[in-house]
Amino acid sequence: MLIIDSHLDLAMNAIEWNRDLTRPIDEIRARERDLTDKPDRGRGTVSFPEMRRGGVRLCVATQIARYVPPGGTLSGWHSQDQAWAMTQAQLAWYRAMEERGELLQIRDLTTLNAHVNAFEANREPRATRELRTANRESIAYILSLEGADSIVTLRHLERAYEYGLRALGPAHYGPGVYAQGTNATGGIGVKGRELLSEMERLGIILDATHLCDDSFREALDHFRGPVWASHSNCRALVPHNRQFSDDQLRELIARGAVIGAVFDAWMLVPGWKRGETTPEKAGVTLNTVIDHIDHICQLAGNARHCCIGSDLDGAFGTEQCPSDVETIADLAKLPSLLAARGYSAEDAQGIASGNFLRFLRQNWTH
Ligand SMILES: [Zn+2]
Repeated sequence: MLIIDSHLDLAMNAIEWNRDLTRPIDEIRARERDLTDKPDRGRGTVSFPEMRRGGVRLCVATQIARYVPPGGTLSGWHSQDQAWAMTQAQLAWYRAMEERGELLQIRDLTTLNAHVNAFEANREPRATRELRTANRESIAYILSLEGADSIVTLRHLERAYEYGLRALGPAHYGPGVYAQGTNATGGIGVKGRELLSEMERLGIILDATHLCDDSFREALDHFRGPVWASHSNCRALVPHNRQFSDDQLRELIARGAVIGAVFDAWMLVPGWKRGETTPEKAGVTLNTVIDHIDHICQLAGNARHCCIGSDLDGAFGTEQCPSDVETIADLAKLPSLLAARGYSAEDAQGIASGNFLRFLRQNWTH
């Protein structure tokens, strides 16, 4: 079955974590054995071979770079131009992976449908192609920008659209140039509204994930284009401003959004202490992810708004993800786990990929 992941920081892993995602996961882990610069060293879960093994053959992949003004407390670049340059390094890596045939950029309906059809044809029992050949085929990705600080001017956004940017989350953690993110407060202001207007003109999807409550309110009031939440869980289950309240989830559902369930353990169970709590001790499994999916399905009255936005290797590894996830290939377990929770085969397939595809087919005009 085709599995779609609506949020992976692939280029950040390549450029900032120095992970060669074309290599086997064991090799990527082994090369980090003596590194201590990041908490998830040696515990990565994402590589292209593992994505193929799990049928994760389409994802939303990010560019990400924060700007931090003098006195800012988060890590980040000291100018927007530096942040832009970092996103261009990440783009250069995506292009290099495309040249190798590892990745394929999806920017319109034609390439989307061609890729999905090719994937399904290869899974036919009588497919002429051997599985070995199919496994070498490209993983498709839709380019997204997490946090808009790197957009120096609106002309930069137009350039980004030209190189394939199709979704944008205006904020990440903390205060941003165009919107306020997780743990921050305040609206989007004039700059944010101008950004949203330009996104609307270009046809770029608004990613509501990470918007603080004030910015969420203002952004949804001013943006009339398609909205999704690429990696967001439920505040009703784990109270934190990073999560969406039931009212926010209802509003996203009313706007036709898909909402990607995220695998970062602190967002799955309350009271997680980074570096102390373990997935085993906290009992965090894929079924805990389904608790959040189920909560959204109950709010919606159907299973048509959920998808998977795992965020695996988004600065956390096996130390902080469901204990039954050894690598991203384990996303393939979700459909049968959903079935065990009473979901029909059609609904499970919808959550695995169908809902996300329907969203794009409804909102992309070409
Ligand atoms: Zn994120």
